[in-house]
Amino acid sequence: MHNDRAITDALESWFSTNARGLPWRAEPRDPYHALVSELMLQQTQVSRVLEKFGPFIERFPTVHDLASASEDEVLAMWSGLGYYRRARMLHQCAQAIVEHHDGIVPSDLDKLRSLPGIGRYTAGSIASIVFGQHAPIVDGNVTRVLQRLHNNPSPQTDKDTIAWSWRRATELAECAHDPGTFNEGMMELGATVCTPKNIRCTRCPLREHCAAFEAGTTEQVPPPKPRAKQKTNHCLSVIVTDDRGHLLVEQRPGEGMWAGLFQVPTFEDEAAMPSIGAAAGLLGCTPDDLEHLGSFTHVTTHRIIEFAVHRCARTDLDTDGRRLVDPEDLHTLGISNAQARIVGMLGSVDTIPR
Ligand code: SF4
Repeated sequence: MHNDRAITDALESWFSTNARGLPWRAEPRDPYHALVSELMLQQTQVSRVLEKFGPFIERFPTVHDLASASEDEVLAMWSGLGYYRRARMLHQCAQAIVEHHDGIVPSDLDKLRSLPGIGRYTAGSIASIVFGQHAPIVDGNVTRVLQRLHNNPSPQTDKDTIAWSWRRATELAECAHDPGTFNEGMMELGATVCTPKNIRCTRCPLREHCAAFEAGTTEQVPPPKPRAKQKTNHCLSVIVTDDRGHLLVEQRPGEGMWAGLFQVPTFEDEAAMPSIGAAAGLLGCTPDDLEHLGSFTHVTTHRIIEFAVHRCARTDLDTDGRRLVDPEDLHTLGISNAQARIVGMLGSVDTIPR
């Protein structure tokens, strides 16, 4: 039999004294801050979110402010966090909260789950941490801790393992005195102690309940994930300025990589770098008008992207659905880190998204 109460008590007590002081953890918990931080933290490191959370809340202090902003403004404030679909979802979520819940983040689990961008994990997190409900949460950190506690050697991302994790997390959340503290404690333990590598069992409050620790299998549970193959992409980007120094930019399609973000004219091919001749032809200039400024490789979790960056000597190109912007105003548009680096090759303006 599991001693669930001993586990939840030990973890709640540990988290109460070991929690990192993060801005969205300020008491009393603000449901809107919890919502923003949860969306930001999905697939993004805390250190990166720490840079972006404060300015985002300053720009959109309430659900209403976020709901009434334009999508471009929201994407601009999200610049640098990646996975921009989350920004769109958060924006739509704020609009749904204004439209259906008078601008108040609902506390009910089902109502939370009916909002755009809110899955079972985020709903459980907000319901338990902000509203004290006995709702479970499961993410990669929680699954890993549970698997080690039970010395469960199944592949971590298997459907059955995830279903098992939700069952165990539900039992534990129901047993906890303070389910929000327990849930946050599980996430914190997975992020800082029961980590994938360099596990710090000597500092773990659950050591005496941990089957993997007892069996000496902490390094093998869960088994390492097979590495997903990264796709390669080739992008030829051309910096075009007019005679005022304004930059030609275009918006990416609403789906796929960097969806909806802005970029200098960029031509892509999965097989090989697009030719300068083809790019020049599409821009309405000649290859002689293009000067190679440099190349770099941009790596994301799923892709390796080779960039070749050129500058166009001509200032009279047809904008063809693109727009000219003052480089000083680039921070008001959403641009990816790769594009910020490209524009930075001009060397004269601060283009890092704020
Ligand atoms: S004892 Fe080690 S393996 Fe077990 S839960 Fe704690 S940190 Fe993880």
